[in-house]
Amino acid sequence: MRRKGLPKEEVLSSIRSLREKDVPWSRVLNSICTRPHPLAVEAFQAGIDTNLGDVRIFRGTHDIERRAVALMGTLLGKESCAGSLVSGGTEANLLAMYVARKLATQRRGGLTGPPEVIVAETVHYSVQKIFDLLGLTPRTAPVDKRLRMDVKAAEALVNERTIALIGTAGTSEFGSVDPIEALSQLALERDLYLHVDAATGGFIIPFARELGHPLPRFDFSLPGVTSITLDPHKYGLVNVPAGAVFFRDPALQSLISLDSFFARTPTHRTFLGTRPGGAALATYAVLEHLGWEGFVEATRTNYDTMGYLLDRLNARGYSLLLPPELNIAIVDLPAAVQVMELLERWDWIISVSKRYSNCLRLVVTAHVTRPVVDAFIDALDGAMTELGLVSCGTD
Ligand SMILES: *Cc1c(COP(=O)(O)O)cnc(C)c1O
Repeated sequence: MRRKGLPKEEVLSSIRSLREKDVPWSRVLNSICTRPHPLAVEAFQAGIDTNLGDVRIFRGTHDIERRAVALMGTLLGKESCAGSLVSGGTEANLLAMYVARKLATQRRGGLTGPPEVIVAETVHYSVQKIFDLLGLTPRTAPVDKRLRMDVKAAEALVNERTIALIGTAGTSEFGSVDPIEALSQLALERDLYLHVDAATGGFIIPFARELGHPLPRFDFSLPGVTSITLDPHKYGLVNVPAGAVFFRDPALQSLISLDSFFARTPTHRTFLGTRPGGAALATYAVLEHLGWEGFVEATRTNYDTMGYLLDRLNARGYSLLLPPELNIAIVDLPAAVQVMELLERWDWIISVSKRYSNCLRLVVTAHVTRPVVDAFIDALDGAMTELGLVSCGTD
């Protein structure tokens, strides 16, 4: 640290010039997060001095958190579900697994062997961190041709050490939606905890269903679903850090009971202690302002742009690895890594899955408009030509 501080203007100008290194949103096709809704930014600033780790002080902010949770509860088919705002999908999944493990320990009076959780191959990598922290062993079920969990194979993995199943409503890698209804059935039959990770799909599927897209239910209307992760900071259009976790039964949330030192302070029900109330204000503000119809419109726009992207790719002769369910396109392309690297040098950011390395992954969200798609297709063609690869047709 400097002994003598710098003038404010100098500090701000160095931040500005460093931020110029960040790639502008208009050249980003790999990110599920997006430029936040302007009202989220305003509301976040209005709560910049708040800390939800101390709800004796921030009573009103706490009230706003409760309201944001209730609003998302209606989205999940159960207004009365218990939930908390957290830092993101990772913390939400962590809390769900923490509860699943506690519940299993209580029920069985101590676990007999190392506890296991059944997941699909496509489960988000955040759960690997969580399993390491909580001492859980993953049992991995394969996926079908549409990259959805094979529930029959999952069922075959159930044994006396199984404490939970995780289904994903919209994998971040491919946007595929696991058969949550069948998982719910399995959870009921075998008396298992079912966690649904809807970090990517939670703010798409309810609205897309209304628009007639053939997507399955994934929420508390399915009786076997125990807990759900949502990520307002993805398709919820809120700024980072805004995640959320929900439990069907408030008694389950009460298993998260982490005390502070001080008398008359409520127990913490999140992993973080000090946590930003601004995220609660921003989430509440965007949900109230857009309402159901606003999110339906945002979803319609994303699917329109997605359709446009697919048409343009198709006309240029590119093909998809699988038909997309959400707003993620997987383009079959040998040399995908080379194409990605060259585009990155040109300040275009896309991704390539490590497991399926011959395809490009393109995410459509709020900042990806038709002009962005047009510019991207030109860049992609440019990269193909530069690399001496055949770009296919003309449109
Ligand atoms: C993004 C994501 C996560 C992790 O959430 P963070 O907000 O990055 O912590 C977990 N699961 C899925 C399906 C996701 O898309």
